Amino acid sequence: MTTKPSPSDYLESARELQPRLVDLRRRIHADPELGLETPRTREKILDALVDLDLDVSLHERTSGIVATLRGARPGRRILLRGDMDALPMPEQTELPFSSTTPGRMHACGHDAHVAMLVGAARLLAARRDGLAGEVHFMFQPGEESWGGADVMLEEGLPDFDGAFALHVAPQIPTGMIGTKPGPIMASFDDFDVEVQGRGGHASMPHDCIDPVPIACEIVTALQSFVTREIPVTDPGVLTVTRLEAGTANNVIADAVSIRGTMRALSDATRERLVEGLTRVCQGIAGAHRATAHVSIQRGYPVVVNDAGFEGFARGVVTDLLGERALLPLPGPIMGAEDFAYVLRRAPGAMLLLGVRPPGTKDPAPCHSSQMMLDEGAMPLGAALHAAVATRFLAA
Ligand SMILES: [Zn+2]
Ligand SMILES: [Zn+2]
Repeated sequence: MTTKPSPSDYLESARELQPRLVDLRRRIHADPELGLETPRTREKILDALVDLDLDVSLHERTSGIVATLRGARPGRRILLRGDMDALPMPEQTELPFSSTTPGRMHACGHDAHVAMLVGAARLLAARRDGLAGEVHFMFQPGEESWGGADVMLEEGLPDFDGAFALHVAPQIPTGMIGTKPGPIMASFDDFDVEVQGRGGHASMPHDCIDPVPIACEIVTALQSFVTREIPVTDPGVLTVTRLEAGTANNVIADAVSIRGTMRALSDATRERLVEGLTRVCQGIAGAHRATAHVSIQRGYPVVVNDAGFEGFARGVVTDLLGERALLPLPGPIMGAEDFAYVLRRAPGAMLLLGVRPPGTKDPAPCHSSQMMLDEGAMPLGAALHAAVATRFLAA
């Protein structure tokens, strides 16, 4: 047993673990579960951790697990996170370990996230004597819009001084790690607007309050609002994705439903979007004697990589995989991730792990029914988790 674990040790040991990581990942892949309750995935994780000396606590409001490794001496505490849930969508990869449940697929790589985190637990447990402090392994269900991270934080997690997560990225070649300081993924909030007019005969609009032209005006005005009021230096996106009204060619509808989503890269822009959406919808509806009822379903906050922690993680990547493995991202990704909640509790970072399947030029992205990943990248992910934790505890 080494007393001072080094990054290259981790890489070598992680490569030896690869068959176990692949086996666990494939079993989870074949048996995808959705939402906050992922009991069979939880069982597979617990089985894989059973021979390690960890303090395991099972959450009650979700199938989440927190497993803690205590080093030989007291010190700092880091949280490493892997999410557990799949997506409600069909799988069309034709892999031999494809989903056995129709309409469910691990298309976001959370199966690999779990396997890599289990691998990191094994690597770190074998080097416990050289560690000062604690590593909390957070296995979290319900990432795909269920806010599982927030639910687990509410139920209670042990204190931590730093937090780290990896997300697989099929667009990035294996061996490369995408990263940037500051916002790396967007916030999201969904909205539902009901424009209420007064229906009637299509030939006599003057006797009605026709909500259709009002809704059209609102959709256009919302785009003007974004370009004129949201600073280009702190961008936001507001997209109307659904418009529903009417039942017949000769009937003016009573109401129109306008639905969509908003993304932002800062809390300030997020709040501006919410305020502006409400003001524009109600103002335009009011100008035409209609009303607009605006309801907003709050999603996740912005994922913000702490500049200091992200710089530290870059250093670990360089030591582990070499300078050329670093892929500085030109900008944030406008998708959302509930690791954002964890990063509000302590400085940390989420990095993107390249998993592009060998030989593919145009890989299917996450959330595609054809999404695949290079399992050869999984040992790198496990080693990176372990090396980040070790270096953090040693600092
Ligand atoms: Zn996803
Ligand atoms: Zn994901």
